[in-house]
Amino acid sequence: MTRYTARRTPRNLAGSGWYEILPPPGPARELDRDITADWVIVGAGFAGLAAARRLAQLRGGDRIVVLDAQRIAWGSAGRNTGFMIDLPHELNSDSYAGAREEDLRQIKLNRAAIEFTRQTVAEFGLNAYFSPCGKYHGAADRAGVKALDAFARHLDTLGEPYTHLDAEGMRAATGTGFYAGGIHTPGAALVQPAGYIRGLADSLRGRVEIYENSPAVRIDTGTERAVHTPRGRVSAGNIILTVNGHLESFGLYERRLMHVYTFASMTRPLTAAERERLGGAPEWGLIPADPMGSTVRRTADDRIVVRNTFTYNPGMETSRRQVARIGRVHDRSFAARFPMLEGVEMAYRWGGQLCLSLNSAPAFGEIEDGLYSACCQNGLGTVKGTLAGMLAADLATGSNNPLLADMLAYPQPSKLYPEPLMTLGARAKLWWMHRRAGRDL
Ligand SMILES: Cc1cc2nc3c(=O)[nH]c(=O)nc-3n(C[C@H](O)[C@H](O)[C@H](O)COP(=O)(O)OP(=O)(O)OC[C@H]3O[C@@H](n4cnc5c(N)ncnc54)[C@H](O)[C@@H]3O)c2cc1C
Repeated sequence: MTRYTARRTPRNLAGSGWYEILPPPGPARELDRDITADWVIVGAGFAGLAAARRLAQLRGGDRIVVLDAQRIAWGSAGRNTGFMIDLPHELNSDSYAGAREEDLRQIKLNRAAIEFTRQTVAEFGLNAYFSPCGKYHGAADRAGVKALDAFARHLDTLGEPYTHLDAEGMRAATGTGFYAGGIHTPGAALVQPAGYIRGLADSLRGRVEIYENSPAVRIDTGTERAVHTPRGRVSAGNIILTVNGHLESFGLYERRLMHVYTFASMTRPLTAAERERLGGAPEWGLIPADPMGSTVRRTADDRIVVRNTFTYNPGMETSRRQVARIGRVHDRSFAARFPMLEGVEMAYRWGGQLCLSLNSAPAFGEIEDGLYSACCQNGLGTVKGTLAGMLAADLATGSNNPLLADMLAYPQPSKLYPEPLMTLGARAKLWWMHRRAGRDL
């Protein structure tokens, strides 16, 4: 038997706008006894709930248990910007593009995840949280336009459609004259992440038992597999870990995962007069030409969300001070883009973690007999998490999904550099990349 003990469990600060604008959830059901199940999934984000849904499809009669350390959607799954992106999205590059063959494989996998989500949304009536409206790439200056041109040429080689927009076209779409140009790609979808994740969890209850505020503090493998929480235990035939970066908290994939934070602010709803002054479409999402720039969304309920700034936080925590400091960067980005909305204040500010690897590889596969991992989503967890969760269920049940071969062909996350080189290097690189983003930030 191997025993994996968690040296820390997640503690996200309050403040995610997506969570706060939903009605308050009902009381949490916590695990407070010892139970037996066929499957236990640890982590109820995109990956965990996709694994649960897929298992329920494949093994309808099995007892499936999901544990989360926090309330559903309190973690990164409910605090991201909600872009489900089908196209290459390599944060570590200067234009999102990667190598051609790799990008073609990634597009195929991402689209499978978006299709899985689309079917989930249709089956469970979650349409209010899912909008298949594509995404804009916005370039703030000539350097950004050049980066976008390079990305568009890359899309040509991949045979992917897009529409070019000049500054006027960008203004007509978004209301702001900030962008010198842009492109629109049709395959992305936008989700209200907390609404979708909570809706999915609620829809799965009945087929799947979900326990919140029930952190896995110890995992035993071997002949008596079990996951222990502070007040109970699930003995199960198979364990699927969908805890993203917290995989490392169990001593797994040590020194192979990078814990990066990013931050967002959300305004109050715009008034009718403010909507009139802004113009543009009622809902849209825009990612920056430079991956280190600002992501901006106008939500279906007329709020503006600004996300920017990445920080390297190997301790897997942020602080109110860090959130407030980066909030001032959001305010500057908002003011530069929306001078017509002067006086519209931010109602919510928050940060959340990403898990990246140096070679952008996922931590996916069977770790040992009966213990599976679907973690390390490299900043695009809405799709890569969904995909990893879904495929982990296929792998664990021996299902013949042809996408598994693509997923298993990824290398393992490569080793990080020794400390203090790693932390110093990561912070220096982020500083330089933020500077490079220039006006895109
Ligand atoms: C501000 C921000 C913006 C982002 N924007 C986007 C975007 O637009 N598009 C995109 O694709 N991605 C985006 N991301 C990244 C995305 O949120 C993550 O990649 C995604 O949430 C990962 O999904 P996951 O299911 O693997 O992990 P998570 O969503 O992190 O879920 C893991 C779950 O495991 C639980 N857990 C951890 N440890 C334990 C334990 N010991 N016991 C029990 N439960 C445990 C956590 O509480 C959590 O609920 C963004 C992130 C942030 C913070």
